[in-house]
Amino acid sequence: MNKRNFCATSAALVGMLFLGIGNALAQQERADAVFLNGRVFTADTRSSIAQAFAVKGGRFLAVGTAAAIRRYIGDGTKVIDLRHRFVTPGLADGHFHNEGGGRGIDLSQSRSLPELLAIVGAAAKKAQPGEVIVSNNDWHEAQLKEKRLPMARDIDKVAPNNPVVLVRGGHEMILNTAALKKWNITNDTASPDGGEISKGADGEPNGEIFDNAKQLVQLPPPAPVTIEDVLTTERKLNAFGITSVRIPGSYRGNLFDDYKLLKQARDSGQLSLRFVVYLPGFGTRDPARIRDMIVNSGLKQDEGDDWLKIGGVKLLVDGGFEGGHMSKPYVEPYGKGGKFSGLTVVPPQNFTAVVKEINQLGWRVATHAVGDAAIDEVLDAYEAANAETPIAGKRWTIEHAFVERPEQLARMKKLGLILSVQDHLYLAAPAMKKYWGMARASEVTPVKTYLDNGFLLVGGTDSPVVPFNPFWAIYHFNTRDTISDGIYGADQRVKSRATLLRMFTINYAKMIGEEQTKGSIEAGKLADFAVLTDDILSAPAKKLLKTKALATYVSGKEVYRDTRFR
Ligand SMILES: [Zn+2]
Repeated sequence: MNKRNFCATSAALVGMLFLGIGNALAQQERADAVFLNGRVFTADTRSSIAQAFAVKGGRFLAVGTAAAIRRYIGDGTKVIDLRHRFVTPGLADGHFHNEGGGRGIDLSQSRSLPELLAIVGAAAKKAQPGEVIVSNNDWHEAQLKEKRLPMARDIDKVAPNNPVVLVRGGHEMILNTAALKKWNITNDTASPDGGEISKGADGEPNGEIFDNAKQLVQLPPPAPVTIEDVLTTERKLNAFGITSVRIPGSYRGNLFDDYKLLKQARDSGQLSLRFVVYLPGFGTRDPARIRDMIVNSGLKQDEGDDWLKIGGVKLLVDGGFEGGHMSKPYVEPYGKGGKFSGLTVVPPQNFTAVVKEINQLGWRVATHAVGDAAIDEVLDAYEAANAETPIAGKRWTIEHAFVERPEQLARMKKLGLILSVQDHLYLAAPAMKKYWGMARASEVTPVKTYLDNGFLLVGGTDSPVVPFNPFWAIYHFNTRDTISDGIYGADQRVKSRATLLRMFTINYAKMIGEEQTKGSIEAGKLADFAVLTDDILSAPAKKLLKTKALATYVSGKEVYRDTRFR
């Protein structure tokens, strides 16, 4: 600060002191709206609970007791009686692709194999001969009574003539026999590097393929994403009090087209959800390709505003539930006699080169790593990049970090890494038990360990892999209960609901570098908040599974309201 600025600042400070408290109150600003008589979780440094707050010009003007906030009421001020309702800062999903659904067949509501196959059969009846039938990806076999995948032979019974591709989550597809034929996947097709073609007991492909093997299948191009898709996403998320999402490399279509659309929505004032978008580096092995992608995008690290911002580059090193790269083999038969310990989707030397290149270009990296061996690969690369140009303090992340080893924690800490965690275990516990055994499955996403070690931890869902309901994630982290298989790893329960809420509010703001303007209910910050059906801090755990927003506000503007509110 130069001398002149310093003088001006001191003069202003002295002036403010001379105003005196009583005088200041008499002259103080009038709020656009005040919210009184609530139970307001502020997520400030002490996780204080306030009674009331005032909003003006899209920001919080003051937070405090109802009596203190009443003083901001003027002629035009809207007065809202919260009637002891619980208020949270707007919730954020730290790892969100889209809300599920789509134009494929919808398997998300099936609860048994016959139900699922009936849906496929009905689609086959309506299809033209030879037409490819594709499913949406927001389902998982753990939701089915049988807790197993439909295989090629099951699908053949209901769809013998059309190629069928059941897309599941982000890593896996199941093909029927017609689809295996169409893409020439036979007994002789070798599993590609970083991918897997599953074989049945007879040694023939059974229809399940994952990770890089998916590249053998060329699906019909999806219909272009439209503004209406963006509006649908925000409507659905606002109803759960969500006001911010971070898109790790893929939303609905091509990320760059999606980004243009999001920009258009922002510029026309149609956003009611704030977006941070990561560029799709995924499994890129060649640093020159990454450089081209970044340069050709014409985008800059951190460009954007409060509504839409570029966060960095998303990379990936291993598979998901069926391909997470572990230091110890999968349990049998998936361990293939101790030989299968998951997939290396990008070989370590390539990954390191790509990470270094991104760092040299001044960009931030977020990497998907599920197994502990994948975390080793990430740490080696991040450390190599850090040796060239420091990354500590630049908010680099590991996404998921399902399984860690204690000695990795210190390495992560040293790099200042932020961990982005989700509730996959809640949905997919039986699948993880099947692949990794109960002991390892019980350690998946060790939220308590990460918190105890002082990590900045950000919550999310990986929707559509797991449904986007943030209260399910809070419930799961609080109880370690799962949808269909009871408690996994009770020692990882996080008892403090306030700590969990912070993972979806202020911690998110810190991860995206906006803790000065977002993430808590404090004077001067953007007025993003939600009134909820339940008190997250004290409601019985099971109640969280039914929690929703009664009203959601972004920049002080109501973007969602339930009929039960007011
Ligand atoms: Zn993801």
